[in-house]
This record gives sequence, C-alpha cells and structure tokens, in this order.
Amino acid sequence: MKSAVPRALRHARRIIPRASTKSLSSSTLSSLTLGNNCLASATTLLSQHRNFSATTTLRDIDEDKTRKWSTPLAKQLAAAIELTGPIPLASFMRMCLTSDIGGYYTGAIEKDRDQFGLKGDFVTSPEISQVFGELIGVWFLTEWLAQGRQSKGIELIEVGPGRGTLMDDVLRTIQSFPAMANSIDAIYMVEASPELRVAQKNLLCGEDAPMTESKVGYHSVCKYNALPIVWTETIKSIPIAPEKMPFIVAHEFFDALPIHAFELVSVPASKSTPQSSTNNSSPSTQTTTPTFQWREMLVSPTPPGSTHESLNTPPTQSRDTPPPDFQLTRATSSTRHSLYLPDSFPRFRALKSSVGPGALLEVCPDASLYASDFAARIGGSPQHPKSKPSGAALILDYGPGDGTIPTNSLRGIRKHKRVSPFAEPGLTDLSVDVDFAGIAESATRASEGVEVHGPIAQGDFLELMGIRQRAEVLAKRASQQEGEEAGKAVEKAWKRLVDRGPGGMGKVYQALAILPENDGKRRPVGFGGDVVN
Ligand code: SAH
Repeated sequence: MKSAVPRALRHARRIIPRASTKSLSSSTLSSLTLGNNCLASATTLLSQHRNFSATTTLRDIDEDKTRKWSTPLAKQLAAAIELTGPIPLASFMRMCLTSDIGGYYTGAIEKDRDQFGLKGDFVTSPEISQVFGELIGVWFLTEWLAQGRQSKGIELIEVGPGRGTLMDDVLRTIQSFPAMANSIDAIYMVEASPELRVAQKNLLCGEDAPMTESKVGYHSVCKYNALPIVWTETIKSIPIAPEKMPFIVAHEFFDALPIHAFELVSVPASKSTPQSSTNNSSPSTQTTTPTFQWREMLVSPTPPGSTHESLNTPPTQSRDTPPPDFQLTRATSSTRHSLYLPDSFPRFRALKSSVGPGALLEVCPDASLYASDFAARIGGSPQHPKSKPSGAALILDYGPGDGTIPTNSLRGIRKHKRVSPFAEPGLTDLSVDVDFAGIAESATRASEGVEVHGPIAQGDFLELMGIRQRAEVLAKRASQQEGEEAGKAVEKAWKRLVDRGPGGMGKVYQALAILPENDGKRRPVGFGGDVVN
C-alpha cells in the first residue's frame, strides 16, 4: 500500500511501515555553557526522579578544598562550578564525553583498554555481527538503485564510527557491486576522538597508511578502491554540494549527544516573572494567577563525604564505582535555556496543557542540528538549494519508537553495568534515549526536499533486510570451515540483534530513514518497500 502525505502535514510527516513478511533474499571548558543566573540557589533536589538525596551549597565546596575528586575531569568541573554555579546537564555531558581534558571518548580511557567489546564498557551491533554492517551496505545499494544509479558524486558519511567496523562492513559489501563502488567520490568520518580516528584509519586504510592534516580535517586513502577518506570533528566541516548524493549512517551516535533536561513547575502569582516585556514603562507587571514555567536541571557537586547510601544510589545502578561526585538539581528560577528550548517545538509546548506541573522533558539541540544537516544535504535547503534531492540517511539508535518524549533517560555505563552517570566523570560512558520523533520533525523542518520513514524496531528492519537468510549462509560456512561451535556463534550473534524480548536489541533499537521527498510513494527497503531495480 502506498500512501501520499498531504503537504500540510509536512512537519509531522512520518511514514510508518505496515508489517510485512517480505525480505531481501540476496544481497572543553570553552564548550561549557555556564551562563545562567541560578547559581547557588539552584540546589533543589529531585530525589523522586534521580538518585540524589542531599543538598550542596557553594559554601560546602569552599570548605572542602581538600576534597578528593574521583577523576581529573571531576576536579576541573568542580572548580568551574565553584566559579559560576551549577551547570546545565548538556554542559556536563559534553565535558564528560568529548572534552580534551579527559572526556570519555577523547582521552580518559587508559591505554590498555577501550570503550568497546567484552573488555570494554559496551558492545554495539556492528561489533556483534558483520551481518549488521553488510545489511546497511545493501540498504545503501537499494537506495542507489532506486534513485537512478548515479554514476558519480556518491559520498559515504558516517557520524560516530567507533572502531570503524560498520564502515568496513559497508564498504566490503558495496565492493561486490562495482557500478556503485565506482561511483563513490569520497568517504567522510565524523569523529571526536583522536584515538578512535586512528583505529578507524588502521582498519580502513592499513596501519602503515599515512594520515595527513589539512584545514578540513585528517586524510588517508582507503584499502577499498583507493578512495579518499576524510575525518572531521563535526559534520559542518564536510562541504555541501548540490550534485553530491550523500549516504549517511549514524549508529549509536545520537545517544551520545548532550541533552538539556527540564521540569515544569507551577509558579505562584506573586513570584511569576514576565517572560518578555514589550513596554519598558511597566517592567514589573505581575500576573494574578499561577503560571507554569520550565525549570532546567543543573549539575552541582554532591556534599563532601557523600556515600552511595547517603545519596541513595538506586538499585538499578551498580555501587562498584566511588560515590558520585555530582548530582542533578533543579534551578529555582529560569535559565537562558529554559526560556526558549522547551518552547521550540509544538510537541514540547503541548506538555504544558497535556501534563501540567511535574512534566519532564529532555531536549537535544545537537540532535536537531545533525538531523537538519542530513536533511539539507539530501533535500537541499534555503542556504544550499538542490534541484534534485538525492541520497539517504539511516539512523539506528535506542529510544521510544512511538513518539514519546524521552524523560529521565540519562544512563552511566561501566564494564557492561549501569552505574551512576555522575560517578567518575570521563571514565563513565553516558547515554540517553534518542527522540526519534524530534529528529523526524527537525529533518522535515530543515528541508522541503525530504521525507522520513520509521522509526521501525531494529528487529523488524533487519528481518526485512534479509538478516536471517544472510546469517544462515554465514553460519553454514563457519560450521564447515571452523566447526560447529563457530556456526553456533554466528547464529547466536544475529539472533541477539533481532531479539524482541524485554530489553532485547531488536526491540529497543529503532531505525529511521531520511529520503528524498517522494510524496510517500516509494517506501525504502527494510521499511516495508521493495527493491526498485
Ligand atoms: N557507531 C559505532 C560507535 C558508537 S559509540 C558503533 O556502533 O560501534 C559513539 C561514537 O561517536 C564514538 O566513535 C565517539 O567517539 C563518537 N562521538 C561521540 N560524541 C561525538 C561528537 N559529539 N562528535 C563526534 N563524534 C562523537
């Protein structure tokens, strides 16, 4: 069944595929946003939502100059907060994940271990089975076929490529289809981590291949087809040109982007402050009825001498870490972000009437920027007009697939266990639920030339892409060549990717596609559509 989407619904356009049994048979401190006026007053605790039970004042910090912080980054953060007051959650996350003074991805991991794999902190789908990346390669191939087999100008772009395994599997797969392989101009990798950039280069280009630096980023030559690979720190550094056909993949990238968190409160009439003043002659006009206002969640140090017990670390979090250095507090007055971010999208604004006081909200401005960028590359934008939209983006991550706005989703991950996200900053991986509906909205807002399909559960997407058939071939080959155990390992791996049990990867991970606008007439493969050849 094909469905056309009315233009009036453009901003809400999401095409959810029907169930189908069809599957493919073949084939730094400077980034810390400290400016807010809540400072020492912002110590209201939200123990009902988060794992904190005590308040800290700036006096406590002053009196505890000798406090031992769990990591150098924790010390830096505490010093910054002492000067400026509690910081937005997004600033804390950005520092913990990508700051050059010991961020999780940018330097804190000790030499003899890495983030990925059994010995690391987490395992991702491409690391579990090669079939995952192969099927993403096949998905790009089907889009290239459906969009007219452009013979040049193809770009492969991956954001957050980890060890480079996914791109390696994608490229190896596309090599089997020379017409597409020969139309690729360049590969772009958006990577914040210098260590991971080198790991990716070693895998995709070889350990001996040189890497050179330019104004744009770092360059090397790929072992597949001698294609140029360019590493940049942000997608903004990758040039946009109307004749290019970008194929973009983001796997477990959006969950690492910093969020702002808010709670809606009812402000008594006497305390309410006008949100904007159009008339300077009456600056202190006060309303007579209570109003609802968003309050930002801020990060401040825990009281000196805190323990897991005193902080009431919840049972869902392992207590194997030192007690958290920081805690989440609710600002007692408006902050720069609380005045505009929650009102930036209709879905968020609606919470004021649909939920009222107590409503929680997570907003990820970086996710919006990346989604808008993908959409502009594919569909064109006022700044980058494109007469013929082309290309595709595939976003795979975890988060609600039903349009629910994520709340309370910040997690800390250490050695495959949930830990407090405020314990050992820089050594603990942080991740949040991805707001897929928000990504869809940002993409369609940014470009008239795109439409969005999904999100669809990863298990469904992979089954529709033919994972079963491909994995069976691999399992048989592994059994024949390496013995029965090897065959069983292949089987176990792919079944893990599609597991739809509670918390299973096939259920909690979602896939979302951004494609050239087509009035919803053609569904992509994996989202209920057929191969167009
Ligand atoms: N896609 C990979 C890795 C996921 S981990 C996989 O599935 O195995 C997240 C990746 O995103 C890492 O490579 C990390 O260094 C990178 N990353 C995290 N935040 C980033 C940011 N703000 N900008 C660029 N890269 C980032």
